[in-house]
Amino acid sequence: MSEVESRNFIEQIIDKDLAEGVYDTVHTRFPPEPNGYLHIGHAKSILLNYGLAQEYGGKFNMRFDDTNPTKEKEEFVESIKEDIAWLGADWEDRLFFASNYFDEMYEAAVKLIQKGKAYVSDLSAEEIREYRGTLTEAGKEDPFAKRSIEENLKLFEEMKDGRYGDGEKVLRARIDMASPNINMRDPVIYRVAHMHHHNTGDKWCIYPMYDFAHPIEDAIEGITHSICTLEFEDHRPLYDWVVRELEYPRPPKQIEFAKLYLTNVVTGKRYIKKLVEEGIVDGWDDPRLVSIAALRRRGFTPESIKKFVELCGVSKANSSVDYAMLEYCIREDLKLKCPRMMAVLNPVKLIIDNYPEDQIEYLPAPNNLENEALGSRQIPFGKELYIEREDFMEEPPKKYFRLFPGNEVRLMNAYFVKCTGCVKDENGEVTEVHCTYDAASRGGNSPDGRKVKGTIHWVSAKEAIKAEVRLYENIIDEEKGVYNEDGSLNLNPNSLTVLKECYLEPSFADAKAYDRFQFVRNGFFCVDANAFGVSAGSPDETLVFNRIVSLKSSFVLPKKED
Ligand code: ATP
Ligand code: MG
Repeated sequence: MSEVESRNFIEQIIDKDLAEGVYDTVHTRFPPEPNGYLHIGHAKSILLNYGLAQEYGGKFNMRFDDTNPTKEKEEFVESIKEDIAWLGADWEDRLFFASNYFDEMYEAAVKLIQKGKAYVSDLSAEEIREYRGTLTEAGKEDPFAKRSIEENLKLFEEMKDGRYGDGEKVLRARIDMASPNINMRDPVIYRVAHMHHHNTGDKWCIYPMYDFAHPIEDAIEGITHSICTLEFEDHRPLYDWVVRELEYPRPPKQIEFAKLYLTNVVTGKRYIKKLVEEGIVDGWDDPRLVSIAALRRRGFTPESIKKFVELCGVSKANSSVDYAMLEYCIREDLKLKCPRMMAVLNPVKLIIDNYPEDQIEYLPAPNNLENEALGSRQIPFGKELYIEREDFMEEPPKKYFRLFPGNEVRLMNAYFVKCTGCVKDENGEVTEVHCTYDAASRGGNSPDGRKVKGTIHWVSAKEAIKAEVRLYENIIDEEKGVYNEDGSLNLNPNSLTVLKECYLEPSFADAKAYDRFQFVRNGFFCVDANAFGVSAGSPDETLVFNRIVSLKSSFVLPKKED
């Protein structure tokens, strides 16, 4: 271990800013556009921004970036707030909407005109593109760039007053048509758009462009470090130009980091939206997705996502992380937190021929061998049990240590049983497995030192609770990669398996939405909140469980580079 804790590049920038007195505090924000649900990538940005504010004793703002009236939907505002709160990022009383700053943005544009730094142009979007030049060729002067300050002020006011149609006039910043950075070639900062806005209604028919609006939003809120993703790196000179020309006393600073990508996993809002709209998934919170709502429904915890984001680190280089790392994080988090219970997912009956007909006995079982604090429970045991169909084989292969005629195994927490045979139906399918038990092996302990190689789980048939269990695989067929040649997604037809007849021990009777359990040998599971809500309380109410993750993995934690 090095003596100095390693600091990521953003912390290094902040440390320097604070040391040099550029800022005396840290104030960050998360600025989502309310045009979809948040996903795991956004979680990284949220936890990074919130985490920095916490670390430096600063503040964190929640701000909806709703300056573009075409795409935003109010329904997403609520889901976004819920997701961020669930992750534990606390904006306290600082929930803002960029659209509340339209007045200030208008004033800022007027100020630029007064300084001779902005002008109204009549060029069409097409012409502006032509005049802009290319990466190798400088742009051409806009023929309207020579308008006087007075004329620009008058025209801009007329734009605001609705005197022009969409696209007829724009306001451009006067920077440098020959700049090697195309973003600096007199970018459009205001456009005419006769559109209804969800927050400001019909008050405005001109709207600011993102590159102009965003630095103003940051400056108004007193943001110090405006953290965004790499695609905005080339826009930073414009960000700096805007805050400089508007003469903010302590301008914010933009810092870019690499987006989080998961290998072979659909993260882009655009693709998730498509899966939702085409009905391929059951809404934005389908447990196969990696939207925050989906991860929550599947059973992930905020702690596991925090851990995952920490392991990913913060970097300037784009890279892709394995989904197995996210699975590792949830396993680690749940290992000690969840009770380990018995649930049979693919049942076959096991009948103990020498067990008294109507006898039920209660056997004690620890809830989690690695965490005594979770206590213990009593499990009913009787003559008829359910076991997993795969725990019996009439003709076992080598190294199969579970039930087969003549073999003895341990029923977890219960008794040694010896298989005597099975009953089959006319199709040859096993309908009952038979065995005898050794009454002296109560608790699953060997009475005379004899050993068994297999331990299997079970549920008493009479007391069992019936439940539905859903198993998931990647929605993408990983063998073939994410996209087909035509850009469509390569879907995995087996991404969802529904098991309708599963049996659980009666200790599950009080399970509520979002409760998590380990089903021994089968993985970690969570009570599905949606399905539960629909049927709760009705006579045919069924518990539905989502498998969060299976128990085993070949995943190894990557070594930290220094
Ligand atoms: P998408 O690309 O999924 O549509 P977006 O970037 O359009 O996402 P915004 O609402 O604009 O979504 O993003 C809000 C914030 O989240 C921005 O600061 C953005 O940079 C950040 N962000 C978006 N995707 C990721 C990601 N994969 N990793 C880290 N941060 C991200
Ligand atoms: Mg966006």
